[in-house]
Amino acid sequence: MHVIYGGTFDPVHHGHLRLAIELKERLDVPEISLVPCHIPPHRGSTDATSAQRLKLLKLAVAEEIGLVVDDRELTRKGASYTADTLRQLREQLGAQEPLVMVVGTDAFAGFDRWREWERIPQLAHVVVVKRPGPELDPQGVPARLLRDRRVSSADQLHRAPCGYILELNPPLLDISATGIRERIVSGRSPRYLLPDSVWREIRCLGLYGACPDGNF
Ligand code: ATP
Repeated sequence: MHVIYGGTFDPVHHGHLRLAIELKERLDVPEISLVPCHIPPHRGSTDATSAQRLKLLKLAVAEEIGLVVDDRELTRKGASYTADTLRQLREQLGAQEPLVMVVGTDAFAGFDRWREWERIPQLAHVVVVKRPGPELDPQGVPARLLRDRRVSSADQLHRAPCGYILELNPPLLDISATGIRERIVSGRSPRYLLPDSVWREIRCLGLYGACPDGNF
């Protein structure tokens, strides 16, 4: 079973890495693929480039067996749509291999606005990770999709190539990339929120307003 977990990872932090390990164990797979996506152009100008985010992500997983980086969305031209990524993976994996995409409840709440969203369950299973925030609107399309396709265990995902939705409620660390960027730009330490190797590289590259000579 192939599992992808996407995000901007600007920068990657322990909240992401911890969730990836929880997913690996709960879904009983040897590996989770982290898939960094393009950042929409309206984000702040101090944010890292795609190449820099990718470099940080590679550093973060270097010490972690079972977490790998898949850079296909960054190397593809133009906007990256999940449906395109899943279609590409489906071609690679063949028709029978289970394929899973992971999303947070916040992102899943807007699932029916994603490009070609109706194709997605024909290509992959969806694992919805419960995040703090509002519940799904029970009348909305995502809630209906969940009711129609819900399964209660990871075993069921292993037994079919696509089409099911599994909700997970793992413990989550209260860390966000926004909070890390805010700390860095205001000269405060982000240590223990992200791997030291990543923080070292952020300083080295002077990202997010980090001072290269900062001694913390
Ligand atoms: P930002 O603060 O810039 O919006 P972020 O920290 O939320 O970033 P993203 O790269 O946008 O990180 O998130 C990638 C994925 O990881 C998303 O599915 C998001 O729901 C999830 N995620 C983000 N933070 C955490 C966390 N602390 N624990 C678990 N999952 C998280």
